[in-house]
Amino acid sequence: MRTAKRISEVPPYFFMEINRKIAEKRAKGEDVISFAIGDPDLPTPPHILNRLWETARDPVNHRYPDYDGLPEFRRAISGWYEKRFGLSFHPDKEVLPLIGSKEGIGHAAFCFIDPGDIALVPDPAYPVYSVCTTYAGGEPYFLPLTEENDFLPDLDSVPSSVAHKAKLLWINYPNNPTAAVAGMDFFERVVAFAKKYDLAVCHDAAYTEIAFDGYKPLSFLQAKGARDVGMEFHSLSKTYNMTGWRVAMAVGNEKMVNALTKIKSNIDSGIPNAIQYAAIEALTGPQDCIGEHTAIYQRRRDKLVEALTKIGLRFKVPQASLYVWARLPEGWTSLKFAERLLEDTAVVVTPGIGYGQYGEGYIRVSMSLPDDRLEEGVRRIASWRASKGGR
Ligand SMILES: *Cc1c(COP(=O)(O)O)cnc(C)c1O
Repeated sequence: MRTAKRISEVPPYFFMEINRKIAEKRAKGEDVISFAIGDPDLPTPPHILNRLWETARDPVNHRYPDYDGLPEFRRAISGWYEKRFGLSFHPDKEVLPLIGSKEGIGHAAFCFIDPGDIALVPDPAYPVYSVCTTYAGGEPYFLPLTEENDFLPDLDSVPSSVAHKAKLLWINYPNNPTAAVAGMDFFERVVAFAKKYDLAVCHDAAYTEIAFDGYKPLSFLQAKGARDVGMEFHSLSKTYNMTGWRVAMAVGNEKMVNALTKIKSNIDSGIPNAIQYAAIEALTGPQDCIGEHTAIYQRRRDKLVEALTKIGLRFKVPQASLYVWARLPEGWTSLKFAERLLEDTAVVVTPGIGYGQYGEGYIRVSMSLPDDRLEEGVRRIASWRASKGGR
């Protein structure tokens, strides 16, 4: 049997490896605390679950769903964008429900990338942008996100030969893993760049609803002209603690949304209806849960900030996302640091190298673990001395 090259050439999903290491330690009976999780620990709010239960009982919803989702769900998405960002999208032309945004992000590569094409991909980043570019036969060209540039890609540094050859640009703010946020000036620069080089822009907006200290993240599509070049991925996963239900959406440029609909409808058969009804409830029902969740994250953030500062890490206090992106003291690689911390304290953090070469020298520390676990983890981190020269 001969598998395709992409099976041997693409490494296993990096975070599967971490999960394996954690499972090994736990099997040995160790009390492992993981700050490596990008998955809200809080449950889906009850009003959303109730709708799911009710609609799951109705046999009408036991059959194949529509490829492009329930019309009511598309209208709910469009209404949510209107309320949250003041943007209106035609529910039948500019909105597409997804089986989680990872699905849509992965398939987006197949809408724009032919063999040999280039996608501009940030580094560090969520790995799906580059891996699926490769799956489609294309090549990622990495845009470094560095502290000096506030973790925004320096578009002017892209050689014009590369920019001309590129067809797709990925951006993601609030950012995973760096927790950076982007202002309208950056989004406007992206639009101008995309128009100059005839690029499609995909904005991964998974974290716009997890923000602190009163900060309200923007939608890329609020930038003037963004709808001419862009599509945005949003997800109910982080916003409503619904990662397990797999439901999300793409909105924006009609041609882009159409292309994604075409690819998807030939591969999957849509989102189970009951989950779509739950999603409608989430988007149109009471929104208090979002404020309640972010208040919890903000308290956790403050505890984490204190502990990480104590062991000599440097970082910008995050205004959004679920993460602290912390710079390691000189002399550590991110893998060595994560391994040593795990050895000494049974605490897991994500090595920055897992997100790309420019993630080296950093770790990502997540706030999505229950308060008592976070506090115990913070206690272990704060009393850990290895990072202070005790190597
Ligand atoms: C969590 C996350 C997603 C997507 O999650 P889904 O559950 O697939 O909707 C997308 N992008 C980033 C950067 C994420 O961290």
